[in-house]
Amino acid sequence: MQRDPVVYDLDGTLVSLPVDWGAARDDFAADLRGLGVDPGDRDLWGLLELAETAGYRDRFEAVVGEHEREAAREAPALALADELRAHDGPAGVCSLNSEAACRIALDRHGLDADAVVGRDSVGSYKPDPEPLRATLSAMGVDGETAVFVGDSERDRVTADRAGVRFRWVE
Ligand SMILES: [Mg+2]
Repeated sequence: MQRDPVVYDLDGTLVSLPVDWGAARDDFAADLRGLGVDPGDRDLWGLLELAETAGYRDRFEAVVGEHEREAAREAPALALADELRAHDGPAGVCSLNSEAACRIALDRHGLDADAVVGRDSVGSYKPDPEPLRATLSAMGVDGETAVFVGDSERDRVTADRAGVRFRWVE
């Protein structure tokens, strides 16, 4: 019998991405300064919003995405990776990381997902519900039967907004 469809967050859920987020943030802040944009004291995700409004989203993906891809090549698997491996039914990944980093980390551990949606896969990113809806749609399943598993408040809010059940990583 098939189990209910499951969508997993990536970092802190299936694998642990050893990204030096401080360095990624500082690299992109320097990039912005070079472009004449003041990054202020925004954190990385604040800089993502700034990049979006200032028209530098591609630069964000190039600079921060490189940090993530590099880390994804070394990311250790977490306990839920075994759950995904054993899951017999539709499974997806919906992450705030770049889609390329997600795929590298999944490949590294031989993890298969029917859909992989990162922050750069659709027009918006978590906690907007659209990426989770897009994941479910690509899996060909209905949100009412699915559960989203994540390790952050952002994940919980995303599930809530998408009308999908949520389960915290234990
Ligand atoms: Mg996470």
